[in-house]
Amino acid sequence: MNDCIFCRIASGEIPCMRVYEDESTLAFMDIAKDVDGHILVIPKAHFKNILDCDEETLSAVMKTVKRVSEHLTEDCGYDGVNLLNASNESAGQSVLHFHVHIIPRKHGDQLDAWPKFDGAKQDIQDVFAGIRMRQRDV
Ligand code: 5GP
Ligand code: ZN
Repeated sequence: MNDCIFCRIASGEIPCMRVYEDESTLAFMDIAKDVDGHILVIPKAHFKNILDCDEETLSAVMKTVKRVSEHLTEDCGYDGVNLLNASNESAGQSVLHFHVHIIPRKHGDQLDAWPKFDGAKQDIQDVFAGIRMRQRDV
């Protein structure tokens, strides 16, 4: 048995509040009750996160993210969205099935959806030298 909670939601085995669905993706309400309108978009197939997701599936997920975001802003009275994703446990991913969080925003809603970082500790040129992509990496 697949013990991945989002696979079980995608298959219909576990119920969810379905916002949008197509052949390969699903958007549904996050049950966290932390922010009004918190939505998750997932591929129906299991991928741990963006790092192991194939490009076709990733495109389908982002297409659904855009569709749902447009619906929120064009039809539901929201003014914008924050898109959040954690890939791997080190980044805070708790459910190990790829998902993008959509946080609908309204002017003046006073939500704090942007992390406050402590400040960079390394020289930016040193970091850049370590992470810049050469042509062969592209
Ligand atoms: P992560 O921390 O992996 O980025 O986010 C996982 C999200 O999944 C959390 O916001 C959590 O509330 C949500 N979640 C966990 N279990 C369930 C569930 O059974 N149903 C729904 N709808 N959301 C879930
Ligand atoms: Zn899964």
